[in-house]
Formats: sequence, structure tokens, C-alpha cells
Amino acid sequence: DSVFAHLHRSPEDPILGVTVAYNKDPSPVKLNVGVGAYRTDEGKPLVLNVVRQAEQKLVNDRSRVKEYLPIVGLAEFNKLSAKLLLGADSPAIQENRVTTVQCLSGTGSLRIGGEFLARHYHQPTIYIPQPTWGNHPKVFARAGLSVKAYRYYDPATRGLNFQGLLEDLGSAPSGAIVLLHACAHNPTGVDPTIQQWDQIGQLMRSKGLLPFFDNAYQGFASGDLDADAQYVRMFAANGGECLVAQSYAKNMGLYGERVGALSIVCKTADVASRVESQLKLVIRPMYSDPPIHGASIAATILKDRAMYDEWTIELKAMADRIISMRQQLFDALRARGTPGDWSHVIKQIGMFTFTELNSEQVAFMTREYHHI
Ligand code: PMP
Repeated sequence: DSVFAHLHRSPEDPILGVTVAYNKDPSPVKLNVGVGAYRTDEGKPLVLNVVRQAEQKLVNDRSRVKEYLPIVGLAEFNKLSAKLLLGADSPAIQENRVTTVQCLSGTGSLRIGGEFLARHYHQPTIYIPQPTWGNHPKVFARAGLSVKAYRYYDPATRGLNFQGLLEDLGSAPSGAIVLLHACAHNPTGVDPTIQQWDQIGQLMRSKGLLPFFDNAYQGFASGDLDADAQYVRMFAANGGECLVAQSYAKNMGLYGERVGALSIVCKTADVASRVESQLKLVIRPMYSDPPIHGASIAATILKDRAMYDEWTIELKAMADRIISMRQQLFDALRARGTPGDWSHVIKQIGMFTFTELNSEQVAFMTREYHHI
């Protein structure tokens, strides 16, 4: 008998299960609404032109070798990522108070940050929004943090439960870590307003709460890289310390290349360098050092003015198309006199629509309106 014979089969991840059902479906007009990846009008994945150019450039450069990267990854990529995140004129960068390490996309950045905090932070409890990306609680629990929820979404208004959020963060133990989606909250598409962000910031400062930003969609929400980073920059600007997980999966379309970075903004350059030395001790026994190709693509684009400009144009085109798809869905629902208020479809931000359809309604649509 197998030594693994006692294992039971674990259930399919519900989101990946949608993709499995999609792949099995013979309908010529099928649409995969489960996957969090950008698609063209033809329903195909998109590789940005600027990414193809960067790859070509890398291939043509015969001086490039396949040596290991340092534990913290490609130095140039890390520097450029911090600049993209905090802005070219960021005082924290100028004062060398930011440490940035290349990680395995957004997920890996969250995991490394979580594990670092579990080992070295005095209040290893993280508050995550309710609801949030389904992987957040698992990533942080595995990292060794105690995971609690704060109220975020209000089904009655299909908007932010701001009062609930303030109450829950207000009663969190002082020093607790708070996970914030930098923009385009997944899965609700509901973000605080600038005034609300300001109030959240004041509350967090007064209680010494530590922000951990998940920045998976910079530029993908509004089409503007600076606009989507403004709340992170607001927090970093007041001298407070924070962590930020960055992903290039969506905004450069580098999903499977696993390109991301963890930045920790510290009070002083000395603290930042000690933090970095400890991050290395978290990374080394996990995977030694990150892969070179994807980060080289990102760095090639970020450091070249013309390529960077082309990237922003292609990025804006993706964001604009998402915004226009929302409008078209809303208009189509209205044109058919569909009961209910669907304005949340156009109010929400980013790539997800929180439809509020329950499982019976979804099952009914699948059963009665599936088109073969
Ligand atoms: N955070 C959020 C909020 C996400 O939606 C995602 C991707 N769905 C991630 C992190 C992780 O993405 P990746 O690891 O591919 O960068």
C-alpha cells in the first residue's frame, strides 16, 4: 500500500474550479468569468508589445548570463520598483529608508512580509478586510500570524462599511498589523474615498497600527500609475513605517513570470538595512533567490524612458477597456429592464464585479441560459 494511502482528496479551489468547468464546456461562445486575468476582445490572454520588445532586447544581449541572483533579487529591479511605488521624488527613497526585495509576485511578497512580521514584530496579529482575496487568510496564517477580520463591505449599500471599519480598527490591539488593498479592492471593487483614507490613516497613526499594503493593481484601476499609488504614498509621506507587496502580474501582464517585490518603509536607513538582513534569513531557506527572467523584463521597461512611456499607454488601454466593459454590462442590464439597481457595476473599480448574485441565482442562470 502507498505510504500516502490515508490522504483524502482535497476539494477543488472554487475559483480554479470555474476554469476547469470552462475548459470542459463545448460552447463556442463561452466566457471564463472566474479567472483574474486580463483578456482581449477575442477572449485571449494579452502579452504587451513592450514586454515582447523587452524580451527581444534581453535575448539579443549576448553578455547576459544565467548566474544566480542575490537572495534579495535583481538590485536594479528593486530600486525601480520602489520608485514606481513611492514616486521619483519620495523622501523615504532619498533618505535610504526603504528596503525592497524581489519576491515571487504579489503572493510571494505577502508571504515573505508575513513571515518576517511573525518572527520580528511585537504584535503578530493581522487584520484583513471582510471580504478579501481568498488567499490572504491562508498566506498570513501559514506565515505564522494570527489572522482577524475587520468589517469592510456593506451589502445594503454595496459600498464601504466605513463605520464598521473604523470601529473594528479602533478596537484592534495597539500595534496590530492591518492589511489594506492599495487600490481596486478584490473582490468588491469598493475603495475608500480620499477623505476616508485620510481618516483611516489618522486612526492607524493614533493607535500605532502597522499598514501592510497589497498593491496588486497599480495602474490597472484608473489607468494612471501615480493615481493608483496615491494612498500608499500618503501613508509613506507622514514618516510612518509600512510594508507594501507589489505585483507586476496584472499591470505588465507578467502573471506566470512571477514578478513582484516587497518594500518595507522604515524610520531610518540603519533600521532599513537591518530589516533587509533579516529578510534574507527568511528567503534563503525558502527558495534561496528569485528567478531572473521576469524581473529583467520589468527592469528593462522601467529604466528606459521610451519603453516606460509605451508601457503606460498599453496599461491605460487595458484599464480603459475594463471600465468600458463595465459600462457596457450596465447599459445592457438596463436596456433589458433587469430588476434591481446595477449601478454598483460601474461604481466598482478594477477588474472584478461583485455582482451580489447568490449561488441559486448563478445556478439558475447556468441551468436555464447556458448557450451551447
Ligand atoms: N493580491 C490580490 C488582491 C490579488 O487579487 C492577487 C491576484 N489575484 C494577488 C495579490 C496575487 O497575485 P500574484 O501573486 O499573481 O502577483
